Amino acid sequence: MVTHLFQLPSGLLKPIVEGTQSFHVTFIDADYRVGDNIVFQELDRDSASFTGFEILMRIVYIQPIGHPTNLAVLGIKPPISRRASKTIMCSECGASLVIGTHEMTILNAVCGACVARNS
Ligand SMILES: [Zn+2]
Repeated sequence: MVTHLFQLPSGLLKPIVEGTQSFHVTFIDADYRVGDNIVFQELDRDSASFTGFEILMRIVYIQPIGHPTNLAVLGIKPPISRRASKTIMCSECGASLVIGTHEMTILNAVCGACVARNS
């Protein structure tokens, strides 16, 4: 089991976080396998730098596509069922953050105040 890393602009990460998008399309640039983990990191829209928000998903399905085949649709699901929301600490200032309306594992997050200060 391998963990792959993808960095996405917040607009592309949002439907994954909200649970409305259960797949990710990628070039086959690694040995993707069902059961592997994916960490999705959010990139700031303007600076293209990591915002500090990241989530963990698991590959549950793989469909190679393209002519020649060089892309894959990765079906993704949260690896662990959790309560609808949980409280974690901002990784920068330590403020409490209540996050998540979708069952998933949020690894790391930065509060709105820190995001605003950093941008
Ligand atoms: Zn903070």
